[in-house]
Amino acid sequence: RAAPLSGLCWVCLLLKSKCCCVLCGLGDLGVRSYGQLESKDIFIAVKTTRKYHKSRLELLIQTWVSQAKQQTYIFTDGEDKELQLSAGVNLINTNCSAAHTRQALCCKMSVEYDKFIESQKKWFCHVDDDNYVILPSLLKLLSSYHHSQDVYLGRPSLDHPIEAAERVKSDGSVSVRFWFATGGAGFCISRGLALKMSPWASLGNFISTAEKIRLPDDCTIGYIIEALLEVTLTHTHLFHSHLENLQKLPTDTVLDQVTLSYGGFENTRNVVGLVGGFSLTEDPTRFKTVHCLLYPDTYWCPKLKGGHRH
Ligand code: UDP
Ligand code: MN
Repeated sequence: RAAPLSGLCWVCLLLKSKCCCVLCGLGDLGVRSYGQLESKDIFIAVKTTRKYHKSRLELLIQTWVSQAKQQTYIFTDGEDKELQLSAGVNLINTNCSAAHTRQALCCKMSVEYDKFIESQKKWFCHVDDDNYVILPSLLKLLSSYHHSQDVYLGRPSLDHPIEAAERVKSDGSVSVRFWFATGGAGFCISRGLALKMSPWASLGNFISTAEKIRLPDDCTIGYIIEALLEVTLTHTHLFHSHLENLQKLPTDTVLDQVTLSYGGFENTRNVVGLVGGFSLTEDPTRFKTVHCLLYPDTYWCPKLKGGHRH
């Protein structure tokens, strides 16, 4: 729990004095750090579907999920006894349809939300099964906020708010504008805010809310938070989907990002431009390369001569 700011700290903030702020435990530029946040306080929901268990999920389990088994929950739509037993992960069969329809995806998000509320964890983060989560960066980012504040963090997928027709009564509709964080890059919501979303998100209400605006799950989250609760999205560019050109990310900043993704192989490869112990053939997504830079002691990571890597 964060202590109230002392009078001296307020003076530091007013003077914008960096070293004074550090002495007060405010961190650089007065960004308050709630230091005690631990990775077990974060609920990470991964959305997947039965047909991607082998082609996408296995890579995640081999890489970042292995470092966060306790707090990662995988939401899928079909049984997979083998995966459950071998990986020791939290695999949740939502019993939602395996179709890529708005209803099916909203059904999964609705289960993710309910499981998060039940978990008592401080932060809800959602990612897709083609995302790599850089756990130290996620922890660092969330540490600068408090879970009891209203916090909605993510990358807007458009450079302007979306305009939706909100269905009212049986036939009328009114126009609403709001920002939303693109689901393909991942986003996080504080527990304080998630609890306020309950009337529109819990126990199946999420599905009827999505039907009101007839938009996908990530837009519906934005609608509930920005349009209904009037809490603004905190735009961050630390989350990445394959809708952007990932090659453009400066390589020396890749490990500071919170999420990464990959898309289109062969002619249209869209992956981060990191080089390391794996060739593009061995590691087409670059997730293994990222993982070995973060956790070089992993048994399957190539050992560089001399024991040093740069
Ligand atoms: N997905 C799903 N059901 C499906 C197809 C996809 O739950 O029938 C999930 C998939 O596992 C991923 C997310 O939806 O987590 C986005 O899918 P994908 O990356 O294929 O599409 P895009 O990023 O292009 O929207
Ligand atoms: Mn995707």
